[in-house]
Amino acid sequence: MKDLRESLEASIRTVPDFPKKGIQFKDITPILESPVLSRAIVAEFVKLYNGVRIDAVAGIESRGFLFGLPLAMELNVPFIAMRKKGKLPWRTISYRYALEYGEAEIEMHEGSIKPGMQVLVHDDLLATGGTACAAAELLKMEGAEPAGFCFIIELEALHGRSRLLPFDRPLMSLLRYE
Ligand code: AMP
Repeated sequence: MKDLRESLEASIRTVPDFPKKGIQFKDITPILESPVLSRAIVAEFVKLYNGVRIDAVAGIESRGFLFGLPLAMELNVPFIAMRKKGKLPWRTISYRYALEYGEAEIEMHEGSIKPGMQVLVHDDLLATGGTACAAAELLKMEGAEPAGFCFIIELEALHGRSRLLPFDRPLMSLLRYE
């Protein structure tokens, strides 16, 4: 396969004004149509985190599930689903956070994470960093820590990276847009 970055750039579809005006939506579904590219993404994350202790991978709903689970399987560690409020059927712990307009809340099942675990947080895309930050706070509520943060795409103009800086953990993204 040619350069991973180039292949990602060629596959990701930018959809203007979705889901609302002014948003340049990065659609990763064409990536999923390529098993070669999908495998290369997982392999790249495994390579980038080589030497970092990872006890579990937490994927953020819903696009964070797509590569989060195969990544956890490849690393041979548990996968933890972090979902929007009201989706998980069992007892949950939740963390509420501010969005540009309004609020959101993410949850995970109680007891999925054990205190002291180092958990890699994964989502498809890093924008303002609010969601990944909330995921890390949720881990901390259970006495665990983020081992790092990994994304397929980073929108640099929205400064998510600096928002996650206080956690002082490796942050990797495969394709950055200015
Ligand atoms: P944020 O909390 O601002 O970092 O937003 C990240 C979350 O919103 C991720 O779960 C992304 O899937 C989604 N998201 C934000 N902006 C975009 C975008 N331009 N294209 C696709 N997904 C986005």
